[in-house]
Amino acid sequence: MPSEFPSPSLPVDIHSIKGFLADDEGAALYHYALEASQLGPCLEIGSYCGKSTVYLGSACQQQQGILYALDHHRGSEEHQLGEEYHDPDLYDCGIQLMDSFRTFRTTMREANLEDTVVPIVSSSAIASRHWATPLGMVFIDGGHSEEAAQTDYRCWSSFIKPGGILAIHDIFPNPEDGGQAPYNIWKLAKASGLFEELPTVNTLGLFRRK
Ligand code: MG
Repeated sequence: MPSEFPSPSLPVDIHSIKGFLADDEGAALYHYALEASQLGPCLEIGSYCGKSTVYLGSACQQQQGILYALDHHRGSEEHQLGEEYHDPDLYDCGIQLMDSFRTFRTTMREANLEDTVVPIVSSSAIASRHWATPLGMVFIDGGHSEEAAQTDYRCWSSFIKPGGILAIHDIFPNPEDGGQAPYNIWKLAKASGLFEELPTVNTLGLFRRK
């Protein structure tokens, strides 16, 4: 299996969208969503301003598929006021909370993806409570606390159809390189016996559901 995928042609300048996804990781998401969206709808957890959503959504759109884009849009731990990745442009001073949804909608409109991307503005746990739809692909890039990552894995990985894809962002096997919560759920997926491990692309962990 190749670990590098060709850069897709995208409907917007991807580097103008705020976010933390590298080009090679985006290309891999696009590649896998192209095939997985033929199995069933795809779901991303943690949309922020829509960078990964453009990669995944463009692939789904090409297959007349659907991408559910789940985010409470109140920012992860590291986006909060005073934290390392806080962005004042995304802070609603009136209610003193983060709000990335407005920027996300602008991205979807500019990328012409409103016919493909279904935003779900909610926490992961609430959105999953009555969920019953099998999924072609799940991309986990939500909160990076241990609890948030475990919740995302627990709530959604069981919906992946056989042959479908599980992708997890920010995998850092060495604790000096980054937080361990995504890597811990990557290890859970590997140990579950339910998935075939695919080559990691940069910090993007990938599995195929058996
Ligand atoms: Mg990430």
